[in-house]
Amino acid sequence: MSLAADDSSTLSGLCRVRHDWTRAEIGALFDLPFPELLFRAQSIHRQYFDPAEVQISTLLSIKTGGCPEDCAYCPQSARYNTGVNAEKLMALDAVLAEARAAKSAGASRFCMGAAWRSPKDRDLEQVCAMVGAVKGLGLETCATLGMLSAAQAHALKRAGLDYYNHNLDTSPEFYGEIITTRVYRDRLETLEHVRDAGINVCCGGIVGMGESRADRIGMIATLAALPVHPESVPINMLVRVAGTPLADQPPLDPFEFVRTIAVARITMPRSMVRLSAGREEMSEQTQALCFLAGANSIFYGPKLLTTANPERDRDRVLLDKLGLSRMQ
Ligand code: SF4
Repeated sequence: MSLAADDSSTLSGLCRVRHDWTRAEIGALFDLPFPELLFRAQSIHRQYFDPAEVQISTLLSIKTGGCPEDCAYCPQSARYNTGVNAEKLMALDAVLAEARAAKSAGASRFCMGAAWRSPKDRDLEQVCAMVGAVKGLGLETCATLGMLSAAQAHALKRAGLDYYNHNLDTSPEFYGEIITTRVYRDRLETLEHVRDAGINVCCGGIVGMGESRADRIGMIATLAALPVHPESVPINMLVRVAGTPLADQPPLDPFEFVRTIAVARITMPRSMVRLSAGREEMSEQTQALCFLAGANSIFYGPKLLTTANPERDRDRVLLDKLGLSRMQ
C-alpha cells in the first residue's frame, strides 16, 4: 500500500485529526512494511512539528514507594519486594532545588510524581504549593498523583498546573492482567476530571508487559478515541524490575516498539509523543528510529521515578549526534 494508494492514505487524509480510528485501521498501520510506516509517520510529524526539535521534561519522584496499588510493573507498590523504601512527601524547598537544577540542565517542563492511589486533601494542598512555586521559576508544570476527584483537579488547575499524567497503561482487555486494585473506567474518569478542569492531559501506556499486538492496538485505539487527544502521549518500554511480577518478562522486539511509536504519531498527529521509561536499555539506534517514527519528547535526567534513565551527558551526546535541538 503506497502513500497515495487511497484517500485514507494520502498525506492530507492521514494528517486529519480523527477520533474514529477503528482497531482494523490501526492494525493495518502496524502491519505496514517498516519503511512505509516510518515514512508515513515522519511525513505527518513534519506537518505539525519541526522534526529537528525534541521537548525535554524532567521527572522527580516527590513521594516514593509504599503505594497500596498492585500495578505489576511498578517497583513502588508496597506489595512487591523491590528494595524501594516508602518515603514521605518531599519538602517544598527540596523540590524547588531539583526544579532549578532541571531548568539549568535544559528542561522546559518539570513533572512531579507521587506514589499514591489518589492524593489525600492535605497532601494535595502541599502539592499545589509546589506547583505554584515551580511555575514561578518559569517551568511548565506536570504532576502524576494517581486518581483525582473533580474537585482535586480544579484545585490543581487553580494552583497553576499545566499537565496531568495519568496513563491508560494498556488495552481495556489486558488491563486486569496488570492491575486488579482499580478498573479501566477509573482511569478514564480521572482523565475526564483533568480535561474538564482545563488541564492538559498526558496519557499513554507501557508496552512489553506480555500484551499482544492486539492489546497495543487496543491501547492506541482508546487513546485516539478520547474526545480530545492527550497533548502528550508517553510510550514506555517496560523496565523489568526485580521483585515485580513482570521481572522476567521477555523483552519486546525494539522494532515493535518503534512501530508503536509510529502508529501513535499517525493516529494522534498533533500530540507530543514521548519516549519515556525504558530508554536506559535502548540502543542509540533504536532511539534514533523512534525520533524518525515521530517521537518528539523525552525525559531527561538520571532518574525516572525510581528506575535508571540515561545520564544527561549521554542524552546530550545522542541529541548532538542526531542534530536534534531542544524545543523551547
Ligand atoms: S504505578 Fe502508580 S499507582 Fe501503580 S503501584 Fe506504582 S505508584 Fe502505585
